Amino acid sequence: MTIALPNLPYDKKALEPHISSRTLDFHHGKHHNAYVTNLNKLIEETDLANKSLEDIIKETVNDADRAGIFNNAAQVWNHTFYWQSMKPNGGGLPSGDIAEKINADFGSHEDFISQFKNAALTQFGSGWAWLVLKNNKLEIIKTANADTPIAHGIKPLVTVDVWEHAYYLDYQNARGDYLDSFFKHLINWEFVNSNLV
Ligand code: MN
Repeated sequence: MTIALPNLPYDKKALEPHISSRTLDFHHGKHHNAYVTNLNKLIEETDLANKSLEDIIKETVNDADRAGIFNNAAQVWNHTFYWQSMKPNGGGLPSGDIAEKINADFGSHEDFISQFKNAALTQFGSGWAWLVLKNNKLEIIKTANADTPIAHGIKPLVTVDVWEHAYYLDYQNARGDYLDSFFKHLINWEFVNSNLV
């Protein structure tokens, strides 16, 4: 079994002007694709070769000898989850269960956005910011480099990639502007709701 690069769930131009087709060309076509290629090379003819991506991640987390496998596997998974976290004409206020739960667990939508933005802005260097469900409560966490909540038994609901390659071509160093666009125009609340059940 080979781990495959999933297609983007929308056209490469579909997120413009907030995320350009040039960014998606590099981010999906080069970065995500390279993680897939590297992972397949690293697991070839090992006991991980026939395992699912999730199992590879769970079996290699905190294993210093297999850090390369973990990093590439987790990055493959994180990117696939990130593409689904956005959609054309997304953003704005949520509806459904997630809207009620955000109000219950963060006080208000504004408080949720401000806490999420703060986590994403203070992730020093490369990493990810996440909304997760822990003990049936919403929480915001950040992870460094390739690390992923699913390696630690935590259920992710949505993520933002804060590696510079995610935003540099469109926003240069202005990570905060990229995050504002994510919440105003891109976040896919249907996907978040679908992860909540
Ligand atoms: Mn990335």
